[in-house]
Amino acid sequence: MNLSLSSEDLAFQADVRSWLEEILPEGSPYRGLNLFTQNREDSAWWQKKLNERGWGCVGWPVEYGGTGWDDAKKQIFSAECARAEAPMQSPFGETMVGPVIYTFGTQQQKDQHLAGIRDGSVFWCQGYSEPGSGSDLASLRTSALRDGDDYIVNGQKIWTTQAHFADWIFCLVRTSTEGKPQEGISFLLIDMKTPGVEVKPIYTIDGEHHLNEVYFSDVRVPVSNLVGEENKGWTYAKFLLMNERVGIAGTGRLRTGLGNLMAIHNHLNETAAGSYDGDDVARKHAELSVRLDALEALESRALTAEEGSGESMILPLPLKLLGTHLQQDVADLGVEILGYSAMPRSGYGFGENDSSNEPNYRAKGPGLTSFMLSGRASTIYGGSSEVQRGIMSKFVLGL
Ligand SMILES: Cc1cc2nc3c(=O)[nH]c(=O)nc-3n(C[C@H](O)[C@H](O)[C@H](O)COP(=O)(O)OP(=O)(O)OC[C@H]3O[C@@H](n4cnc5c(N)ncnc54)[C@H](O)[C@@H]3O)c2cc1C
Repeated sequence: MNLSLSSEDLAFQADVRSWLEEILPEGSPYRGLNLFTQNREDSAWWQKKLNERGWGCVGWPVEYGGTGWDDAKKQIFSAECARAEAPMQSPFGETMVGPVIYTFGTQQQKDQHLAGIRDGSVFWCQGYSEPGSGSDLASLRTSALRDGDDYIVNGQKIWTTQAHFADWIFCLVRTSTEGKPQEGISFLLIDMKTPGVEVKPIYTIDGEHHLNEVYFSDVRVPVSNLVGEENKGWTYAKFLLMNERVGIAGTGRLRTGLGNLMAIHNHLNETAAGSYDGDDVARKHAELSVRLDALEALESRALTAEEGSGESMILPLPLKLLGTHLQQDVADLGVEILGYSAMPRSGYGFGENDSSNEPNYRAKGPGLTSFMLSGRASTIYGGSSEVQRGIMSKFVLGL
């Protein structure tokens, strides 16, 4: 991105870059991982390293261990991490439940939960969706009935990413059936080790295990685990979704991905003349680059929009929509360029394990095809594209 960086920002960028080079040298097994390929140990390792440097949760307020960086620094940091192909931070703690807890939670909840998210010792998952309640989230039925100092929770969540290794789940539960559906929802923190919580795997099109069903059978949850007020959970749920959507756009990783594709394209242009339509690829690549430029500009506006303003509420929607479609188109172009080399376990590029000096574009990982397939989900999770368009047509275009 063409940020015009001040000398202070340039010094900061150099500092971040040299730290990343030290922690993630060329050939590090942690490079090139993403949320779908990294396991708990990978995520914990990366979170611990960040935290040791004081960068565990850079966007949090300083009083909760954040950095107090301005928006330019946060963008530089995220772009440098993408450039170094750093692992992804688990969003469920850092971007999602952490800000909900420090904004709406009790002191006891802050004391109990924030440090574990920062240092990578505690992992979270998101219990929003249920069978029949995805886009229509407010129709959710998992119930939490008050019994003395506890809630008794019964019901089922689905598509719960990383529930199989999470320590805690933040859940939307129904605490009232009166009034509008949104008015009877509460935001509850549940320890995954509580008796009555059962996790079952769901295997996805890429052949991996990221997703789960989570069942709750008479699960006793202390009332002290309620965030904010009972029946006001919808407010906290929406606050969380806005943060989630900004993060999903993934501009830094897109920039790195497009850079990698250009390197592969240049190599093929030189070595595979005749069997490779370089002009067509170059045109498609240019188109995607222009879309990414526009997306980065939109991201800057979203990140710098005044909190609580109309822009801060609306911009995450087109950002998520355009970012996820761009991610899919970049992955599609990658598969098109690489052909057979994009297949699972053949490595992303060519030259894996061979002794030539050919560039090895991504020897690690299950293959770009697998990444492309798992990426189909990005236009579904965090609010499907159709639903995002529906909200924008109503609130932006007034249709
Ligand atoms: C990989 C992946 C990871 C996920 N991780 C999590 C997680 O960790 N935690 C969690 O809680 N959930 C998670 N989800 C669930 C996700 O949030 C839901 O899948 C999503 O909200 C859509 O809900 P649904 O699957 O019930 O589809 P539905 O809501 O049934 O939608 C089906 C289709 O109908 C369309 N549609 C629905 N309503 C409208 C409308 N009003 N206008 C136009 N079209 C409409 C949708 O766009 C979609 O194409 C994940 C999903 C995926 C795929």
